[in-house]
Amino acid sequence: MEALPSSLSNPTSSLQLLLFVDKRPSSTEKLRQILSRLRDLGSAFQFGLQVVDVGEHPDLVEHFKLVATPALVKIHPQPLHTLAGSDLIAQLNRTWTQWQQAAEDERETGAIAPTANANGSAMSSDTSIAHLSEVNQLSDEIFRLNQDKQALQEQLQFKERLIAMLAHDLRNPLTAVSIALETLEFALGRTGDRPSRLTPETTAQLLRHARTQAKALDRMITDALQAARGSTGKLQLQPQKLSISSLCYEVVSDLQNRFASKSQHITIDIPNDLPMVYVDLERIRQVITNLLDNACKYTPDQGTIAVYVLHRTTQKIQVSICDNGPGIPDKDKELIFEDRFRLERDEAKDGYGIGLALCQRIVRAHFGQIWVDSSGQQGSCFHFTLPVYQ
Ligand code: ADP
Repeated sequence: MEALPSSLSNPTSSLQLLLFVDKRPSSTEKLRQILSRLRDLGSAFQFGLQVVDVGEHPDLVEHFKLVATPALVKIHPQPLHTLAGSDLIAQLNRTWTQWQQAAEDERETGAIAPTANANGSAMSSDTSIAHLSEVNQLSDEIFRLNQDKQALQEQLQFKERLIAMLAHDLRNPLTAVSIALETLEFALGRTGDRPSRLTPETTAQLLRHARTQAKALDRMITDALQAARGSTGKLQLQPQKLSISSLCYEVVSDLQNRFASKSQHITIDIPNDLPMVYVDLERIRQVITNLLDNACKYTPDQGTIAVYVLHRTTQKIQVSICDNGPGIPDKDKELIFEDRFRLERDEAKDGYGIGLALCQRIVRAHFGQIWVDSSGQQGSCFHFTLPVYQ
């Protein structure tokens, strides 16, 4: 960075300019011509000029949004005005009277140029550039801090909402478990020495119901913990060789009561010769459960839900969970996998918008893909791929 010879540069003038230059040899002649023209202009009307090397001050280049050098920026009086390009001198000649007039008007109103300090004495050109640069960095920092603050506030609000919703949602399955246990306790007698008043089928059904509800509780707590940890934490996987077919049947059976409560019809279509997969059992159980849970939640009563598994390539199998519910609009097909995204139409339904984001994290951690197919009112088909055990 260099300044014009002090005899020509007046830091207390109400017209203050910055000339941005680069150090390429090809720019030297251009710079000489511009300085010479500025010297001529300065002999009739004094102004402040500082020459800034763009290599030393990329922050100022960005701040003034410069795209070419040389560039001449009027920083005072406001508004900022930038001249740049190969015909900079011609532009300067056209603009000069206007700049001079603005500076004279400013002087008459008694305003002090920004490069003079409060008691009117001139600062050195170095100090004013350093000052500009510092102000610039501070405003970047303030912008960043504001963004961080906003993100933290959103996170805090989300956690508060999550706690409120959890407190509400956990109550239903908890009540269901308590009722099932109380009924069993009453029927069996507190000491267990009286004969049971329940048929073995009803007893089994009550136990199954209590277990399903306990699992639902567990799932909600797991989802909430995942959400509270945020999506940045790395997923710890414990992969093992297992049959995806058995897992699908198990999850469907666990959710049977939920489908029954909406009179929904569920079908499973899995080929017998499917290879084993190499995945984390509990995580993939969570994915299948979340997708089936959504299918049940968003599909109306008497709807149809189907589970298919395909052996797609030698290395991958594909699990599909389809329903004949309201489907997903094209514009939201990717957004629904983002954290806390819910379709406006579904905001009244229970949920936090974190289930699909979690499914995506789990599937990706297994080097698989997850996506949704949905056309019109035909319902949705969620697909994901998993690695075959080699
Ligand atoms: P949540 O169900 O808790 O809202 P998800 O992340 O599981 O969160 O789903 C995000 C959104 O995607 C849901 O709010 C819903 O609008 C939409 N969605 C998910 N699954 C289905 C489905 N099977 N049919 C229709 N819409 C769905």
